[in-house]
Amino acid sequence: MVERQIMEPILIPTEKGIYCPEGDFFIDPLRPVDRAVITHGHADHARTGHGHVLATPETLAVMEARYGANHAKQVQALKLGGKVNHFGVTISMHSAGHILGSAQVAVAAKGQKIIAAGDYKRARDPTCPPFEPVACDIFITEATFALPVFRHPDALGEVKKALSRLALMPEATLMIGCYSLGKAQRITMLLRAAGYDGPVWLHGAMVKLMNLYEEFGLSFGDTRPLTRDETPGAGDIILCPPSAMHDRWSRRFEPLIRAMASGWMTVRARARQKQVNVAMVVSDHADWPELLQTLDDVAAGEVWITHGREDALVRACHMRGQLARPLRMVGYDDHGDVGS
Ligand SMILES: [Zn+2]
Repeated sequence: MVERQIMEPILIPTEKGIYCPEGDFFIDPLRPVDRAVITHGHADHARTGHGHVLATPETLAVMEARYGANHAKQVQALKLGGKVNHFGVTISMHSAGHILGSAQVAVAAKGQKIIAAGDYKRARDPTCPPFEPVACDIFITEATFALPVFRHPDALGEVKKALSRLALMPEATLMIGCYSLGKAQRITMLLRAAGYDGPVWLHGAMVKLMNLYEEFGLSFGDTRPLTRDETPGAGDIILCPPSAMHDRWSRRFEPLIRAMASGWMTVRARARQKQVNVAMVVSDHADWPELLQTLDDVAAGEVWITHGREDALVRACHMRGQLARPLRMVGYDDHGDVGS
């Protein structure tokens, strides 16, 4: 156990979320607050009803698309790489590599620097800039996949695996269950990188966010909203939220190869439970080696762990001579069980 502790950290964990008393703001608050700084657009981090929201332009656009323009009384955009000063506290945004616009929030004051990383990953993702390691005194991390068993394979290889299954069953349509924000867009880019240039049909829940990514300059090739009158052909691909994969809606597209893209697909029991033909291990969260790499890169004296599997990560920090503190925050999830 390391006995080094920073006196009076400039951020403190509270029930509402991580709070900065000096600047009177919360980071990814779990309840409505006067001033919020938001790391990214996933619903467990970006909630409605705040007075003032500071976030990247992409995250603000996601919040507006999901909740409407009145999700907060006031919004302020801060680009990745940008910096503002608020009551003597410097707030800056650094890429988290998680989804479009995702940011680590750096807070600096009184000679201290704390990074609240939000959700992040180190694997390359064509839909957002890579994670930027920033040296800090305290690093606040998630621990969704913080067990040595989690080693996410190359995502392109996982997409190719699904495509080769489709090649073996040319009469079938490939349906991929994936989270609508971030994963769907990454999977589409990977399908293109793997050489698939046919139509990608989108479940209604995905259309708006796909369009939003295009407004920020990403292009996905031939994507089509799946309306009631449309029938995807043999060899086509459909993307839908994991929850829609086995409901009545999906049956009219049979014969189907059902695939699921999630970090949880590493766990065989979960893949079986989801009754999928192809388990694609594609995650937008850091796996075990990426978490350890990040602990090395940011070289923080102290690590706070917001949610997930804290225990193994706490031990790993101690082995590295880093003080570790599990916050066990309730309210951050992994986007509905299989979305990660
Ligand atoms: Zn997220």
